[in-house]
Amino acid sequence: MTRFDTVAIVDWSSGNDTGPRPKKDAIWAAVQRGDIAEAPVYLRNRVLAEAWLSDLIERECSLGRRTLIGFDFPFGYPEGFAEAVTGSSDPFAVWRMLSEGLKDTPQSNNRFQVAAELNAMFDGGGPFWFNASKADIPGLPRKKPDHPPGLPERRAAERLAKGAFTLWQMGGAGAVGGQAMTGITTLQRLREKHPDRVAVWPFEPLNTPVAFVEVWPSLVADVVRAIADPIKDRAQVATLAAMIAGLSDADLSTLLSVDAPEEGWIFGVDAPDLLRQSWPAMKPRLKNDCFALPPGVNWTPVDDALARLQNRLSPVTDVGGQSVADALGLYLAEDVVAKRSNPPAANSAVDGYGCAATSLTGADQTLPLVEGRAAAGAPFTGTVPEGHAVRILTGALLPAGVDTVILEEDVKSQAGAIDVPGGVKPGSNARKAGEDVAAGDVILEKGARLGPPELALLAATGVTEVTVFRRLRVGVLSTGDELAAPGETEDPARTYDANRPMLLGQLQTWGFEAVDLGHSKDDRAYLKALLDDAAGRVDAILTSGGASAGDEDHVSALLGEIGSRADWRIALKPGRPLALGVWDGVPVFGLPGNPVAALVCTLVFGGPALSLLAGGTWRAPQGFTVPAAFSKRKKAGRREYLRARLTPDGRAEVFKSEGSGRISGLAWAEGLVELEDGARDIGVGDPVRFIPYAAFGPSF
Ligand code: AMP
Ligand code: MG
Repeated sequence: MTRFDTVAIVDWSSGNDTGPRPKKDAIWAAVQRGDIAEAPVYLRNRVLAEAWLSDLIERECSLGRRTLIGFDFPFGYPEGFAEAVTGSSDPFAVWRMLSEGLKDTPQSNNRFQVAAELNAMFDGGGPFWFNASKADIPGLPRKKPDHPPGLPERRAAERLAKGAFTLWQMGGAGAVGGQAMTGITTLQRLREKHPDRVAVWPFEPLNTPVAFVEVWPSLVADVVRAIADPIKDRAQVATLAAMIAGLSDADLSTLLSVDAPEEGWIFGVDAPDLLRQSWPAMKPRLKNDCFALPPGVNWTPVDDALARLQNRLSPVTDVGGQSVADALGLYLAEDVVAKRSNPPAANSAVDGYGCAATSLTGADQTLPLVEGRAAAGAPFTGTVPEGHAVRILTGALLPAGVDTVILEEDVKSQAGAIDVPGGVKPGSNARKAGEDVAAGDVILEKGARLGPPELALLAATGVTEVTVFRRLRVGVLSTGDELAAPGETEDPARTYDANRPMLLGQLQTWGFEAVDLGHSKDDRAYLKALLDDAAGRVDAILTSGGASAGDEDHVSALLGEIGSRADWRIALKPGRPLALGVWDGVPVFGLPGNPVAALVCTLVFGGPALSLLAGGTWRAPQGFTVPAAFSKRKKAGRREYLRARLTPDGRAEVFKSEGSGRISGLAWAEGLVELEDGARDIGVGDPVRFIPYAAFGPSF
């Protein structure tokens, strides 16, 4: 009896349909039959959604198809609520009560009043709170009040649902209180309309053709992220529908066997892996073996390591719409097209006098001026007759009859006329409409990073919203028993943690969201717990320390245990070891502990790699060749980076010591001199490549 022929998932919304245009966060629904998916449907308000659901029930029943319809709002309230407001623990008593009280139209609903009325049934104030209306509502606090004693804050299922909102919060981003009220009343009407067809899980036995089931899309948030649909709700309903349709009969009946007669339950919340295992595209965002090296590789040249990173990494953050005002430093996930030409209409490039080219004889001449003037934003509305000119300022629209502007400095003005020298070129100083950008042109391509110039281009062409990759979140973790917070101790055996502020700062400079993951002792279980937690919160992790193969090198060991580690022994000074791995789908860059080596590895490998993960295109750092202000003899076999800066006359000088313990040299320098892998004997004045710090990784 468990088999369902059709699975539909609905992403509900309690928002009102008021604006002139459809909203992205209205209602989305997806239908899946076996492995065939219908295109998800956009339902811009609850009235349309209810009609669509009623039709679906009608159609599937008439075709003899058993149908599961999932909704992303709670079907029941925490234990004791039903009794308190209806005198019965039957959840349908609450459904009927809400249906009588709630007045819901596409433009408005009285859910806040209903919440206030329910609150009034509790001595000393009820559980509901949040009021989005301007006017105060007696009995409905705007802020979270003390919760009534004896009533649970959350349902049992919600205690398993990390990050779920409570039913008591009636509004605010992500709140479900309003969704439940508007959703439950809709389902109650559908039950009444199709009385013998619908059963509500888990309150009723599922022996009717249609089951209403509570679902929670956040259970599959990581899969949805990987799909990178700009409309998250659409991806969620499609993903959940496909997952549930793909469940085996046995798994489906396991997930449906739940005892929650009053509160209801979230389908799959107690066994998310069971739900997800049927998902064919359920891969880690990056493959576990994405950093694997071919057998037999011993020392990897820097260029090979970079090429590998370039080939194996791809964007890992989700995609969504973003207002241009908040998009600085983000990467485009789609090409952008100009909404308006720049300039939108022909205008003047200078301050001067406008006339028709045909009025110009080619020789010195005098042109009478018409009354009035054309200024930016204040056009001249008349027509300039042949043989006349008009005063015009920079940026002003060219009036009718004007296609040429004579530079102010080139004319002699007299009362009511100007003396024009011969030889003015027809069309001079006039900007044509769209000469810079025409409406409809692709102005920026996918992968482009939005810096100040890009923001100007978007603004000038009327683009206010772009589809971008969410800002990359990168966690920074220091490891080592010897580490202490700066100033924490005077013990000379302890080392102050210098890498964490350095790496967090570097990430911020690059425009990523830097997440401080703290410091881990050299303790494998502790480190593992930190990585587990971090993998749920960030898109990439930089660790420092413990990356070699020694006894206390736990980062390396842990990545090895889960089978995703690759030790990239890179032919690089200062550097090595670099342990790369994938922890729960999240790439981990295990940097050396030594701060100088940690920064060099971050600049050389982290900069371009993180740009790719963030949605950008691969970019080698732009260095330039300058004369050396130093001499050095270098052996073949590895690349070297020297801490360097430019002298006032443009030569590269290097820090007095190459010692990798010299953190002061990092601060003294302004960039690195890169010495190629082969041997070199450098004399003063020889060309060397200098790369400013700012040229590694994203910059504008
Ligand atoms: P490891 O890679 O763990 O063997 O560390 C190499 C060297 O770098 C040791 O001298 C560590 O004490 C030092 N080190 C490791 N992490 C840090 C840090 N966060 N700040 C400063 N020094 C560190
Ligand atoms: Mg260590």
